[in-house]
Amino acid sequence: MTAVVDQKTPVYYNYIGGNWVESSSHERIESFNPATGELVSYSQKSNLHDVRETIDSVHQNYVTSDWSVNPKRRYEALTGLAQKMTEKMDELSRILTLEQGKTIRESRVEISSCIDTLKYFAGAARTVFGRSIQLEPNNLGVIVKEPIGVVGIISPWNWPALLMVRELAPALAAGNGVIVKPASLTPSISVEIFKLIDEVPEFPKGIASIITGPGSSIGAAMAMSEKIDMISFTGDTSTGRAIMEMGAKTIKKIALELGGKSPNVVFADANLDKAIPIIGKSIFISAGQICMAGSRVLIHESIKDEVIARLKEYAEGLRVENGILESADMGPLSSKSQLEIVEKYCEIGKEEGRIITGGYRLTGGDYDKGYFFSPTIIDGLPADSRVVKEEIFGPVLAVQTFSSDEEALKIANDSDFGLSAGVWTSDLNRAVKMSRGIKAGTVWINTYNKNFPEAEFGGYKQSGLGRTRGIDGLMEYCETKHVHIETD
Ligand code: NAD
Repeated sequence: MTAVVDQKTPVYYNYIGGNWVESSSHERIESFNPATGELVSYSQKSNLHDVRETIDSVHQNYVTSDWSVNPKRRYEALTGLAQKMTEKMDELSRILTLEQGKTIRESRVEISSCIDTLKYFAGAARTVFGRSIQLEPNNLGVIVKEPIGVVGIISPWNWPALLMVRELAPALAAGNGVIVKPASLTPSISVEIFKLIDEVPEFPKGIASIITGPGSSIGAAMAMSEKIDMISFTGDTSTGRAIMEMGAKTIKKIALELGGKSPNVVFADANLDKAIPIIGKSIFISAGQICMAGSRVLIHESIKDEVIARLKEYAEGLRVENGILESADMGPLSSKSQLEIVEKYCEIGKEEGRIITGGYRLTGGDYDKGYFFSPTIIDGLPADSRVVKEEIFGPVLAVQTFSSDEEALKIANDSDFGLSAGVWTSDLNRAVKMSRGIKAGTVWINTYNKNFPEAEFGGYKQSGLGRTRGIDGLMEYCETKHVHIETD
């Protein structure tokens, strides 16, 4: 943290009431490129005064503008933002990679997904349907969907653009006012997107604000505020739990998208030529820093040696380097603390299991400037090992083995989490049985990591509360009102 700013590095401000504002703390957050250690940007280290000002501003603009009752305006605003993001695709992707570390190819996918999400919810803004029902003679019930009011969106650093837009788009489409608090590791991309919101005249000034700063103070203040009607949180399960507790004080609506420990279940009849690269990608994409990472692979005992050998070959073939290079398959971990967490789990893995490949920090040459880690596979772990049970959020794949369908299902569900799963088989009956038996918000059959704005996503068990994306994702941001009409 510093108040001294060099002239070359971009400085990002809070966006409050349609104005770019410095924090009253006059303190700044520095963010660094995790591949090179270079300073990327300064953003505001906001304080409680700034949070109160932002909440009041969004509240005021929500009440005074026609946003909540003008779906066509919302459609035009979100379409306008999608257009602006399309025009800035290359620049946004670059900024995302420089600050987060992910590969430039992945950044392009992330920004494209933002655009697709905005387009989908732009259309959905004009389809916030209620129902009507005849209740008695001369008594008509009209069930209306209304915006909730002011929504606080607290987002993480791993997919900082998409995970903000994934909530921002439906919250705005439903007609709410919005305050975003991005993660302090990755504020730049979020504020860049707000710069584009500022350029779209259909957004009423101040209906959407962004404020940067520490989660433990300003995120918590949002969760406890009486003037925020809903918190949409994406992040760690323990933070989600704390937010539920803080939100309980004002009985506000809470939507949670949390962690995972997702299994890929590989049966003996699976098409391994298709499965291996997708299973490999499912854990090594974003250097494993993705909620739906396929961080466990469950292999039928009859094909275990072959699957492990082929996954090892895949992992060792990945080019781990600065994500800005077009050739990079995997970038660095996003921070020193994330690197240390991953190293700690690999130490446990070495003691309790057998390292198939990786398990160490990459060093030498340019690697020394960043937080690069080897793609890692660990076998032979006990079922209760922390490497098998806990979300590592790094490129570490735990191998488990089964001998029957029943055992596969039992192991797949032996987790506190329930975000997603992959099932690999050519037997349709088995695929259907497994998909219904696995307790997870998304089950992919013979594929993985395929997400669409129109298909719901979210967690069973401790992976979350509520759904994002799709019609359910839009309805998360709506209240339901019964208007009862009695005629003479
Ligand atoms: P995190 O919980 O540390 O932080 C998320 C956000 O919460 C940040 O903006 C942070 O500043 C803020 N925050 C931290 N403490 C807070 C507090 N006490 N009160 C209010 N806000 C607070 O999570 P992270 O490390 O940024 O993200 C990684 C986690 O996110 C992983 O567990 C991952 O699985 C999860 N995740 C889930 C999804 C999903 O869709 N289910 C998607 C991406 C990431």
